[in-house]
Amino acid sequence: MPARRLDGKALAAEMRTEIAAAIAARTALGKRPPGLTVVLVGDNPASHSYVRNKQKACTEVGIRSTLHHLPTDTSEAELLSLLASLNADPSVHGILVQLPLPPQIREDAVIEAVGTLKDVDCFHPENVGRLAAGIPRYYPCTPYGVIHLIRRNGIELAGKDVVVVGRSNIVGKPLALMLMQKPTKQNPTGCDATVTVAHTRTPDLAGVCRRADVLIAAAGKTGLITADMVKPGAVVVDVGTNPGPNGKLVGDVEPGVEDVAGWLSPVPGGVGPMTITLLLDNTVRAAELIDG
Ligand code: NAD
Repeated sequence: MPARRLDGKALAAEMRTEIAAAIAARTALGKRPPGLTVVLVGDNPASHSYVRNKQKACTEVGIRSTLHHLPTDTSEAELLSLLASLNADPSVHGILVQLPLPPQIREDAVIEAVGTLKDVDCFHPENVGRLAAGIPRYYPCTPYGVIHLIRRNGIELAGKDVVVVGRSNIVGKPLALMLMQKPTKQNPTGCDATVTVAHTRTPDLAGVCRRADVLIAAAGKTGLITADMVKPGAVVVDVGTNPGPNGKLVGDVEPGVEDVAGWLSPVPGGVGPMTITLLLDNTVRAAELIDG
């Protein structure tokens, strides 16, 4: 029997309706609509497309979105100065600097220049530290989206063997933290799973993956996860987005996995729409933290 589909597109639509209702309830009380400011430097076509999608999603739920599009030769000092003014602007709740940045701008310096209350990506070291300590201010969007995609399909994570392939600061590492943590009042997303993180120096990746009740592929390598690496009936989440034939996106998981897994997320239409949805959710949270 082919794997059941972890349909991120459908779940994202359902969650966006909930988010729009929460925003309407806030504005009905006379509160300002949540505001997200996106900063895009340069002309990377993929970044342009991500930013367009994020702005469209904002508009649909009632978030005011503003774009600052700066030229490729923008200096680090110019970008830091813009961020200082956005940090001081009370109508800006969330700030998102679209990565990657041109080489003259240090990514670390920019991440640390976003005010910690407005850091809806959860990339600032203070917010990463809070997440690691189990007292999160925000959850990072892609890992948060993966966990929603699993749980809201009724799949239990507590006590499960979860393997995360990839250890990046954006996906693998924070996702592993959230999966292993105990759920508490301050950290309700903790999943109580038993987590293994695999990466480029993991010997016998196939053997490690075969142990997984839940396998999450976030390596950015087309076809990395093949059917023989998957335990029959396992839940497989494909975070990878790689350029495929004819300009299409493909994941890290080979199509044959569909015949072995119990659940599988498609690419596109799986984790991607969830990431944007959790960005919207974090922007509402920023408005709550800042305006009450
Ligand atoms: P990254 O390049 O920063 O990290 C990739 C990680 O995978 C590294 O830790 C590396 O050790 C590991 N890895 C790479 N090749 C491997 C291999 N052969 N065996 C084992 N481990 C290997 O990438 P990232 O930013 O974490 O993104 C990962 C993928 O997820 C990319 O395809 C990216 O486009 C995608 N992504 C998708 C979304 C979304 O919303 N759908 C969001 C973020 C990232």
